[in-house]
Amino acid sequence: MYTYNRFMNKDVIIVGAGFAGATIANLLANKGYKVLVYDKRNHIGGNAYDYFNEDGIIIHKYGPHIFHTNFKEVWEYIKQFDEFFPYKHRVLGNIDGTLVPIPFNFKSLELTHSKEEADLIKETIKREFPDKTRVSILDLLNNKNEILQKFGDYVYQKVFVYYTSKQWGIHPDKIDKSVINRVPVILGYEDTYFGDTYQFMPSHGFTRIFDNMLINKNIEVKLNVNIKDHIKFNENKVYIDEEEIKCPIIYTGAIDELFKYTYGVLPYRSLDIILEKLPVTYFQPAATINYPTSELFTRISEYKYFLKQNIQNKTVIAKEYSKAYRLDSKTDPYYPINNEINNAMYARYKSLAEQYHIYLSGRLAEYKYYNMDLTILNAMKLADNIINLLKSKK
Ligand code: UDP
Repeated sequence: MYTYNRFMNKDVIIVGAGFAGATIANLLANKGYKVLVYDKRNHIGGNAYDYFNEDGIIIHKYGPHIFHTNFKEVWEYIKQFDEFFPYKHRVLGNIDGTLVPIPFNFKSLELTHSKEEADLIKETIKREFPDKTRVSILDLLNNKNEILQKFGDYVYQKVFVYYTSKQWGIHPDKIDKSVINRVPVILGYEDTYFGDTYQFMPSHGFTRIFDNMLINKNIEVKLNVNIKDHIKFNENKVYIDEEEIKCPIIYTGAIDELFKYTYGVLPYRSLDIILEKLPVTYFQPAATINYPTSELFTRISEYKYFLKQNIQNKTVIAKEYSKAYRLDSKTDPYYPINNEINNAMYARYKSLAEQYHIYLSGRLAEYKYYNMDLTILNAMKLADNIINLLKSKK
């Protein structure tokens, strides 16, 4: 174990000012520890960063981010940083030209099937799943009942196959099941995208939340600093700008980048987000419309919905085009691609981080498809551990 020593008068170094880094920085600073946060970008907030354009419309620069959680402690923690208002995210899917609720529900069923077919499927569902309000698409596909299998196959083909091929570049049969299980099939008329207990949006956008988490006399944030250009590893010691680091380092970025791709480039999916300004009050009838049967983009989000903004004759939409993450282009890693081979490569990076006593937190550093709530929850736990560690060193 290292001996604790301060670096530039700081007790802890955190790399990354997204939800993982900002949560840990905030909790440590509240306990009186001096925290130095680096971020390679010119702004805080990680991929949850948002801003208001010249018309006052909120823009989620790195794609739509919506807060939802079942973890009371996450909600209690995050709500201190601004006002939030109740927000239920609704998504429609354009299935062969018809807009239907996604997750696929009984209304979607009625809009895409004849009354007789829809009635038969609903009756069968009620009989086979009397107590369930939602199931995974796999529960339908693998069901012994032929009617449910056929229905499952319809939903799989119309909702999951093409969308997933666009999003991940592979057929959903080849993807980790947890990915498509994120989107259930609803056995009823519930039409919100998330089933969580706490669904709220911050009234002034996410960046305000990060400002409030990080504005603290014990936190210094250095933007535009890519730690990989300053950090060196040698014989179990870590150096930043040639100085040996003896205080804890928490890293929240892409772990392969930290170790200069020693074991290879970890695969991620990335996104091109194409914004369009339009001279209409609303472009589409829901915050997000998915395109599971057509188009090259996966979905269109209309950002005004996210803050219920009342701005006339102006709107902004964002089309998401998924693509592979490549080192040579200016793409950002967004989604880890969890499979046996990639997880094995990640495990090697993780042991390297352990060897150098670097703590990992967040979607990129842990190489897990976390939503923001789990990112925050895990960061809260790590902050507790670091606080105990620092206490024991005093
Ligand atoms: N998905 C799909 N069709 C849809 C929505 C989602 O096939 O209409 C699948 C797709 O594989 C996607 C995954 O479910 O990557 C998770 O979707 P989610 O909306 O949670 O993705 P995120 O918002 O994180 O991009």
